[in-house]
Formats: sequence, structure tokens, C-alpha cells
Amino acid sequence: MLLAGNDIEDASIESEVLLRHVLGIDRARLLASLDADISPEQRQLFMKLIARRSKGEPTAYITGHREFYGLDFRVNRHVLIPRPETELLVDKAISLCRENGYLKIADIGTGCGAIAVSMAVNLPSVTIYATDIYTEAVETARQNGVNHSTEDRMTFLRGDLLEPLPEPVDMIIANLPYVRQRDIPDKGPLSYEPAEALNGGEKGLDKIGGLCSGAGNKLKANGTLILEIGQGQGEAVKGILHKYFPSAEIKIEKDLAGIERMATIRLTQQ
Ligand code: GLN
Repeated sequence: MLLAGNDIEDASIESEVLLRHVLGIDRARLLASLDADISPEQRQLFMKLIARRSKGEPTAYITGHREFYGLDFRVNRHVLIPRPETELLVDKAISLCRENGYLKIADIGTGCGAIAVSMAVNLPSVTIYATDIYTEAVETARQNGVNHSTEDRMTFLRGDLLEPLPEPVDMIIANLPYVRQRDIPDKGPLSYEPAEALNGGEKGLDKIGGLCSGAGNKLKANGTLILEIGQGQGEAVKGILHKYFPSAEIKIEKDLAGIERMATIRLTQQ
């Protein structure tokens, strides 16, 4: 009721998630033990978590977990919470890797490592560089790699955009910050996420532009670049890509909500 009263959508599901977190049990066990009592300590902790949620803090930060691509990821206030629409990029990236026999991938601005680890889990022969400018993000991604037993095929590097990448790769994939600076809210769920992971500068395209300017040197001859983009950025991103890759075919694709979400280019051998 507290959540519903505070305009939290899906209040009953969210409170169930928090209750299960407090009790440390899955949904089936919760349903099976509906008339079991919870201890006063558990009740107190649950009410605390509900209070945090009702102030707007995202459930994923409260529980420290978020599901992405069918996998459980650890998240914290240093990383963006993975979004369902980003699964579109992972789907596309995985099929392109299979079709083209790509073996070496770089996920730039990896955050919690959702893209990199999901690809590593689903492509057992690839090796992946996962980079981020923030040490805490690199460490979170590494922890997720360890949790999914993919860390032996992953290299975690701290540094700005492509700068830490030691060699050209078959595929560069990135969900960089692309929100316009003036659209970064100081209230609501987005305000709990690291502004550095959202803020793409005046037009939202600073980081994407920076990555594209260097991608030519870090992609192999038949390589592919896949970028997540924001609403209405398709034309502008096409322009940036065309500037750096004048002869490459550029594709802009929409997500399930009909929003331009993904830009892809494939290099062709000269
Ligand atoms: N899709 C995110 C949002 O608007 C932004 C992610 C990003 O900047 N890469 O909530």
C-alpha cells in the first residue's frame, strides 16, 4: 500500500520481490509458505526496504540484483541498471558473431558487464574485453563474470572508451551514455543511477562520437560496430558514422516500443 500510494508501478510485485529478498527465498517457496510467520527482525527489515522503495530508489539497487538476458546480475549504485531494450543489442550481436565466426569482442563502457557476460555465456568460443572508465564498474563486471564462470575468457580493463583496448577486435559493442545533459533528472528513479553512465553531453552524442572517431583503428577488416542509441538519435548517429565510415552500410533499428535503439555498421574489406 505504501508503494502504491507513492506512485510505484507494479507495487505488489515489487513488494513481493523485496519480501523474498528479506526472506532469501524464491517465488515458489514464498507461495508455499504464505501462512508462515515472519520474524520481527524480518518485518523490520522489510519495512525499511519498502520505505527506500517508496522514496523512489529502484528495487534493483535495494536487492543488489537485476535479471538481464535470462541471467542474474549484481548491480550497485556505481553502475546503470541493465534495461530490457538492451537485450535487443545482445540478440543481434550474438547472431552476427555466429554468422561471421567472430571470436574477439569488446564491450565498451561495460557497467555491470550485462552485455559482455551475456555474450560470453552464449558464445563459448569468444574472448571479450570489457572496459569502463570507472574502477567500481570494472570490478562489478568482473564479479558478474566470475559469478557466471566466464571470467577466464574475459579481460576487464579500466579506461576511457577504446583507449585501454590492446588490439583490434571483430566486434565493438557499446551502450554508452546518450541522455542529453538537460534531460538528466534530479528526482525519480533515474536520479539514483550514476549520472556519468547516462550523461552524453549537450546533444547526448559526445561519447558515441568519441567512440566512433576511434573505432576504425580498433576494428578488424570485416568488423562490426553496434551501438545503443536513444529516442530520435538515429539520423544524428547515422551522420556521425557516415563521417568516420563513409563506405560502410549503416543500419538503424527500432526496439519493441518503436523507438530507434540500435545503430550497426559492418566494415567491408577494401
Ligand atoms: N536507456 C537509458 C534511459 O534512458 C539510458 C541509457 C544510456 O544512456 N545508455 O534510461
